Amino acid sequence: MMRIRVHLALLAAVLLLIACATTGINRFQPNLFTEEQEIELGKRFSREVQKQYPLYTDAQVTAYLSRIGQRIVRVSDWPDLPFSFYVILDTAQVNAFALPGGHVYVYTALIREAESEAELAGVLAHEIAHVTARHATERLTLMYGYEFALQLLLGENPSELSRLVANLFATGGLLAYSRKNELEADRLGVAYLMRAGYNPRGFLTFLQKLQRLAQRKPSRIEIWFSTHPDTEERIRRVQKIIRGKESGTWNTPAFQQIRSRVP
Ligand code: ZN
Repeated sequence: MMRIRVHLALLAAVLLLIACATTGINRFQPNLFTEEQEIELGKRFSREVQKQYPLYTDAQVTAYLSRIGQRIVRVSDWPDLPFSFYVILDTAQVNAFALPGGHVYVYTALIREAESEAELAGVLAHEIAHVTARHATERLTLMYGYEFALQLLLGENPSELSRLVANLFATGGLLAYSRKNELEADRLGVAYLMRAGYNPRGFLTFLQKLQRLAQRKPSRIEIWFSTHPDTEERIRRVQKIIRGKESGTWNTPAFQQIRSRVP
């Protein structure tokens, strides 16, 4: 009996390793949420974000953003998760973020700052990768433990949920991911970009742009840099990954048109 159990455990471990090898995602991090719970939690977070941040609801811009986003989601590691894409009206901060369960927010200033569809797609792919790798629920579990996180999910602690959203980007906030999380989101994001037919160089040039902005107008990317450290190292790593693979869509007339619509 004992031996059978050991064999089963070994078999399970081997199957788990195979599953991880195919997705390339590190599923060994402590994350007790089921996918359904993560989706439910994401809905609550997203509703709270929309109470606290002004949305830019131009239908044409939102539809365009969703079209690029869905093209990337389809080739991601979680293609059947229903993603939603939103624009936040903020002409100062160059930023984007994703909530658990597939809610991606892009600031109008970031759309203005992008120079091609590949750059915008690069940012979206990075944010989508944070979701498919489940970084937010992983972080929530580390911050609060499963029990308390579950209370948030069940709506038993609305004041704490709104406090969390108000401090999304603060040190120790929900979206202050670890260096490991960022590097993983970069690696996965670049893979998704290429699979979706975009030139992965778009992500690289956007990172370089952020680095230049950091020197020229640091206040415009304060939030991004508080949640995305080590840009220098990220640039180096992305350069290495995409070397020799720099082909695919770079820009489209639709991007130029949308960018000129955005304030
Ligand atoms: Zn990130």
